[in-house]
Amino acid sequence: MPARILNGNAIRDQIYSELSGEIAALSASGIRPGLAAVLVGENPASKIYVSSKIAATEKLGLASFNITPPATISTSELLAIVEDLNRRDDVDGILVQLPLPSQIDAKKILEAVDPAKDVDGFHPLNVGRLVAGRPNLVACTPLGVMEILRRSEIPIEGANAAVLGRSDIVGKPMALLLMHANATVTVCHSKTRNLPETVHRADIVIAAMGRTAMVTPDHIAPGATVIDVGINRVTDAAQAESIFAHLPERLASFRAKGSAVVGDVHPDVANIAGAITPVPGGVGPLTIAMLMSNTVRAARLRRGARISAAARS
Ligand code: NDP
Repeated sequence: MPARILNGNAIRDQIYSELSGEIAALSASGIRPGLAAVLVGENPASKIYVSSKIAATEKLGLASFNITPPATISTSELLAIVEDLNRRDDVDGILVQLPLPSQIDAKKILEAVDPAKDVDGFHPLNVGRLVAGRPNLVACTPLGVMEILRRSEIPIEGANAAVLGRSDIVGKPMALLLMHANATVTVCHSKTRNLPETVHRADIVIAAMGRTAMVTPDHIAPGATVIDVGINRVTDAAQAESIFAHLPERLASFRAKGSAVVGDVHPDVANIAGAITPVPGGVGPLTIAMLMSNTVRAARLRRGARISAAARS
């Protein structure tokens, strides 16, 4: 039986409709949550990411501030921009789009963001809170994966979960969130021995390696839930023919466009998994939804005292 498709766009819409209510309540107290995006230079992929984040803030009626310093900016000049955003009361969330140019000390910049405005959840204080089981602002992609699992009623407690990838942005926070939700978590990486065998023991597989269609049906136990975080662009015709051998529509679309976006999971896994996220239209929409959710949360937490005071007066 083909897997249940976990539709990220539908879950995102559900989250947006819940957020709209919260945004309206904040607005009644005179608060319009604001997100500042700092995009350094002209990286085309970063420009696309930032413009979709700005489109989401505008759709939800949040205030959006777009700061676009040139690629030649120094670490101290960028620090000054971040410090100004830290001070501004109309800015609730700050995102500094990665990667930063090589002359910039990226760690220094991310650590300069006020933890109360750190809507990407990258600041060491927020990472530490997650480790300690007292999460505040958590990295958006793993948070989005948890929303997919919970809203799709996939049992997490007691499940064996395999997280493929151990990056600071996806794999590590993902493993922590699953562990705190009482899954038994195995974290795999490029040095893991017998990856297919290890993954085969998992009830829940989260693939976040950036390796095109690497997770094949032989990795997956029948009925497992497979969440595909990977976003890989395929332009090689032979590779596309092999990946889409059983998907004539995807192959036709590849031939028309000359490229396709493919996850870390081979599409044939849908024939063996119990539930699976598509790429595109799975985890991607949730990453942006959780950025919006974190911005609203940051506004509520930082300006909440003022809301209560206004309600009392
Ligand atoms: P990184 O490159 O930072 O990390 C990749 C991880 O995968 C590393 O831990 C690496 O191991 C591991 N890995 C690489 N190759 C293998 C292998 N052959 N076997 C086992 N493990 C392997 O990537 P990110 O975490 O930033 O992103 C991962 C993927 O998710 C990318 O495709 C990215 O585009 C996508 N992504 C998607 C998002 C979304 O919204 N859907 C958001 C963020 C990322 P090691 O540590 O040993 O090097």
